[in-house]
Amino acid sequence: MYHSNDYVDFITNLANSSSTAADKEETRRRHAEFGIEEDCPVFRGLPEYTRLVAGATLTAVKTLTEGQADVAICWDGGRHHAQKARASGFCYVADCVLALLALKRVRVPSPDGTPPRRARVLYLDLDLHFADGVAQAFLHANAGGAAPTLVTLSLHHAAPGVFPAVPLAALSDADAPGADACTVCVPLARGTGNAAFARVWRGVERVRAALRPDFVVLQCGADGLAGDPCALWNWALGGEGGLGWCVDRVCNAWGCKTLLLGGGGYNSPNVARAWTYLTSIALRQPLSLDSDIPDHNAFPLYAPSFTLDVPAGNAQDQNTEEYLQTVETRLDRVAEIIRQRMGE
Ligand SMILES: [Zn+2]
Repeated sequence: MYHSNDYVDFITNLANSSSTAADKEETRRRHAEFGIEEDCPVFRGLPEYTRLVAGATLTAVKTLTEGQADVAICWDGGRHHAQKARASGFCYVADCVLALLALKRVRVPSPDGTPPRRARVLYLDLDLHFADGVAQAFLHANAGGAAPTLVTLSLHHAAPGVFPAVPLAALSDADAPGADACTVCVPLARGTGNAAFARVWRGVERVRAALRPDFVVLQCGADGLAGDPCALWNWALGGEGGLGWCVDRVCNAWGCKTLLLGGGGYNSPNVARAWTYLTSIALRQPLSLDSDIPDHNAFPLYAPSFTLDVPAGNAQDQNTEEYLQTVETRLDRVAEIIRQRMGE
């Protein structure tokens, strides 16, 4: 259980049958209290939807923890903005947080006969938007200088006016007073594409190597891909540093059990392309990006290419070499602190 009892009661019993003006005002007030407004509207089947999203992600977790799979997928999950007592950013249930809480409870047998140790978990978020709900849920969760069992790492775009506008979205400095080295936030500039991702990935790899996670939860929001209406990043699906390349590294090179979750993405044909391609990577049977889209009802939406690929556009990458160097230095420092706390 992560959400407050009041929020769970409210969201699972949503009914909109008020008739008088006074009732309507009270309903509006109650909805606003729990974030049910603006980009989190009431819709038909909302209580069931929240139960299904949470249940699907937790079922995927179970297949990993019970040894039925090395990679589990819930493309309807990845609702990384939901908060303890509030919906936010079209996220009504914090399935990422629920998955992490379940994985943190796992005990891993020790090879030398000593008592089982707590599982180590890495949450990595590739969505265009900051994973505020997840970062805030686990801020300072690794008490004192103890060996860390959970690290959250969000790669995202942050700028004035870009949702969610919270101070935690800024570039982490693990040495700043009051900082939590295990809550890692890396904003990337407009026009971020494969080259910037390939560069930042070196630091991501070092954090992963320091933590040696048993489980990785990878949020694969597709709103950073070129062609998304958010139009902030210029990321490609294929190629070195592309979304597919990152997911391939995690699923097929890191050697830990992996939960793939969905996330944002507002160009529906491109989201379908991305999650189809990522599924083929997880299956170790990667589709060719030249593959033709099969004929189906939505086929015309895949014009003009009618192929699987989501190539980069022409936007210029506004990350400077100096900034990318700073990111690498900060991630190296996180890796160093993790290693120190693990007694290495
Ligand atoms: Zn997003």
